[in-house]
Amino acid sequence: MNGEGVLRVTFLGTVSELAGECWCGRTYTSADPREMWSWLEEHEHGRV
Ligand SMILES: [Zn+2]
Repeated sequence: MNGEGVLRVTFLGTVSELAGECWCGRTYTSADPREMWSWLEEHEHGRV
């Protein structure tokens, strides 16, 4: 479901890459914002 916790996406300085951190603690890096958001919505939360 939506609306739980905080999603954070940070722009990395040197390369045009995004570092995403989900509320469940998992992180993901991509140069494509759409891919980043897809990952944030589709990965298995909390299965670390
Ligand atoms: Zn998650």
